[in-house]
Amino acid sequence: MAARAVEQRLNADTSDHAGPTVRCDCGKAARYAGRRPKTFATVLGDMTLERAYYYCAPCGAGFCPRDRALRLRDSSLSPGVLRMVGLVGAMVSFEEGHELLHALGGVDVPTKHVERAAESLGREIAQDERHVVEPPPADEPVAPTLYLGMDGTGVPMRALELLGRNGKQPDGSAKTREVKLCTVWSAEGRDEEGTPVRDVGSVTYSAAIESAASADTDEQPSAFAQRVVREATRRAFDRAPRRVVLGAGAPWIWNLATEHLPDAIQIVDRFHAKQHLSDVSKSIFGATSDLAKAWARQRHDELDVGDVEAVLRALRIHAGTDTEARKCVEYVTTNRTRMRYAAFRAQGLCTSTGVVEAGCKVAIGTRCKRAGMHWTVAGADAIIALRCCKLSGRFEDFWERRSAAKAAVA
Ligand SMILES: [Zn+2]
Repeated sequence: MAARAVEQRLNADTSDHAGPTVRCDCGKAARYAGRRPKTFATVLGDMTLERAYYYCAPCGAGFCPRDRALRLRDSSLSPGVLRMVGLVGAMVSFEEGHELLHALGGVDVPTKHVERAAESLGREIAQDERHVVEPPPADEPVAPTLYLGMDGTGVPMRALELLGRNGKQPDGSAKTREVKLCTVWSAEGRDEEGTPVRDVGSVTYSAAIESAASADTDEQPSAFAQRVVREATRRAFDRAPRRVVLGAGAPWIWNLATEHLPDAIQIVDRFHAKQHLSDVSKSIFGATSDLAKAWARQRHDELDVGDVEAVLRALRIHAGTDTEARKCVEYVTTNRTRMRYAAFRAQGLCTSTGVVEAGCKVAIGTRCKRAGMHWTVAGADAIIALRCCKLSGRFEDFWERRSAAKAAVA
């Protein structure tokens, strides 16, 4: 009933009639064309507001000054409902979002509207992320060691978004586009065995479907490199006495790290290195063979004690007959200084976190890689921006910036 009261109060107030003409955004005069009703979803329930409507003949735009004043522009959702749509859109599918809004908020926003509004909000957040890059205040303490992880993960795309792109399908086509993720965290806590554990609440994410390779002719860093630099700036990565870059081992990660985070210690995520060796063992001995398991376990143990030479010796035995083993010799040789796990452990560094891997799952996989989902690049990027913002604990800050002009209708 609160909705009715607000509706009646607003509809009785016709002060939004600002004379026969008002200035349009295009600079020309828009003419008053009567009062028009529109139904808005608000946290109090649906409200039908009658607003003064102006039409600009020169540019064809129509608008209501009251919608602008109430921040209801371009949407049938009030700011309060839009905020809820943003939160559910970040966490669950649009269909589930629609159901949650109904069950928890008592507001009825059709699934298609949830999608449109969440994506539009996500685009705003992506813009905001590119422009609001403030390091924390100088007196704010920074963890003694900060970790920055990078990884890529494929997200299923609509066919139109994949035309002419090469991929891993048997016929050479692609089903996915790669989302690149940057995550920053600290790990000052220790478990019973003294192994560093990721500090709860210290993790932030930033991700998009972006290239990590800058064109030869281009002086500019790649789009993803710029994203990494922005995230590092926001986290005061350069103020941490010790800096670590963790990654799965793809060359683009180390190129980017060497260029933009030059004095960080580089570590191949041990979790990933082990997975790699397990895959190779299956290629050598067959996927279900016990021999494969035993072989992989031995290599894992060698990695743990920092005996990269032993790993290489074991790989070379099979390099002549197995392509994966041969490729892995290269991988381990290229990354050997990044796999000195015993030395890293002695320095109290976190090496096998799976944080980067888990980050990809948490930030991207659980929301974007579910059965039946097929994205556009723009849609995926918007929802990824929204989700990273939420998971990084930045949604409230964003919302405060957005509502700097106070909303009158919640
Ligand atoms: Zn106009």
